[in-house]
Amino acid sequence: MQKFSGFGLIARAFGAHKSWQAQWRDPEPKQSYDAVIVGGGGHGLGAAYYLAKEHGMRNIAVLEKGWIGGGNTGRNTTIIRSNYLFDESAALYDHAVKLWEGLSQDLNYNTMFSQRGVLMLAHNIHDIQSFKRHVHANRANGVDNEWLTPEEVKEFCPAINVGGKDMRYPILGGALQRRGGTARHDAVAWGFARAADALGVDIIQNCEVTAIRRDASGAVEAVETTRGTIKTKKVGVSAAGHTSMVLDMAGVRMPLESYPLQALVSEPVKPAFNCVVMSNTIHAYISQSDKGEMVIGAGTDAYTSYSQRGALHIATHTLDAICELVPMFRRLRMLRMWGGIVDVTPDRSPILGKTPVKGLYVNCGWGTGGFKATPGAGNLLAWTIAKDEPHPINAPFTLERFREGRLIDEAAAAAVAH
Ligand SMILES: Cc1cc2nc3c(=O)[nH]c(=O)nc-3n(C[C@H](O)[C@H](O)[C@H](O)COP(=O)(O)OP(=O)(O)OC[C@H]3O[C@@H](n4cnc5c(N)ncnc54)[C@H](O)[C@@H]3O)c2cc1C
Repeated sequence: MQKFSGFGLIARAFGAHKSWQAQWRDPEPKQSYDAVIVGGGGHGLGAAYYLAKEHGMRNIAVLEKGWIGGGNTGRNTTIIRSNYLFDESAALYDHAVKLWEGLSQDLNYNTMFSQRGVLMLAHNIHDIQSFKRHVHANRANGVDNEWLTPEEVKEFCPAINVGGKDMRYPILGGALQRRGGTARHDAVAWGFARAADALGVDIIQNCEVTAIRRDASGAVEAVETTRGTIKTKKVGVSAAGHTSMVLDMAGVRMPLESYPLQALVSEPVKPAFNCVVMSNTIHAYISQSDKGEMVIGAGTDAYTSYSQRGALHIATHTLDAICELVPMFRRLRMLRMWGGIVDVTPDRSPILGKTPVKGLYVNCGWGTGGFKATPGAGNLLAWTIAKDEPHPINAPFTLERFREGRLIDEAAAAAVAH
């Protein structure tokens, strides 16, 4: 792998930047691999990287039906935080935040991770009680989270309109996780791809998995793809909104619903918004990208669908909320909007572990909030595949919990799942 450094950048400038290598190879699929990952999003690429780096499995492939990062990884609003309520969730998401903190150095790729703080606004008594409960639970788990008064909210993020006679939802305070923030979504996919490729992982794009073959004992023996049959005894599925379709190929029925989730960006402007702000009650969240665009997200559409777009009223409702929260953005023009397909579980927590089929592993159900987990999910999926057993952090996030009634109900805890 060509190492990136400041010195290398200057040296190549003298050669008009003509000596950069392709960042990863474009290999033909082999006839067999020790393990195959279905889905070339951040989670799948991360799993391949950690399989190679931490478990010494180098004869592996990532199969992506489109282009890497073209799914939710490249479509999300990049909010990263770990202030979830339950002990299991705090451990899972904070494992990811800790990996984010060293990821650029680990991958030798600037993921533009920016710990600018995630501020969750409270607009009513229920919000205050719920967020204070989160603050206390998080602190007991060693996860940073603090309560701000309306004055402190204004001081931390001056652009916000914290109160006024004309506000439908005045701001009564906020919960701030200072270690939270954002990262550059494409860079995360590209960084993992480049580092995994350097360790020998084959990243195969335009290769859709169309069937999962099982042997006489029921164990996985191969996958059928649009580029031929590939033999393997281990398949890790990290296909986000399409997980239930892929698992169905092996006869496994998943407790998932797939919904469109939308986002939009404004025209770029100078630095004007210094943190990430979320309002669960009025369903809007906003941050400013390094290019200067305001990145805005909404709640899911109210119907299940596989179309990567959404209904206009969701976006306009969100913009109403943003204009009320930050009145100076009323004159901003919106540049583009898009959607992704998110995989939602009944308790709004992920499923990460083994399946009833020997050799088949699944990482899914991250719904509207899995970008923040990218390195953690990849790391734990790799562990589970390599050792054929879950890591203690992902052990509670089984498929069986829905049958056994051991839910980790973050939806009930937070009212939303971002
Ligand atoms: C609009 C929007 C905003 C969001 N905002 C946030 C946020 O602010 N913070 C946050 O934490 N999360 C957010 N999320 C959620 C987050 O994007 C996802 O949870 C996360 O990116 C999932 O990563 P992944 O790698 O599992 O999925 P993906 O990046 O979707 O990767 C799955 C890949 O599998 C491929 N695939 C599917 N079927 C097959 C097949 N049969 N064969 C081969 N390949 C296949 C797909 O093409 C896709 O590339 C948001 C999502 C959306 C849509």
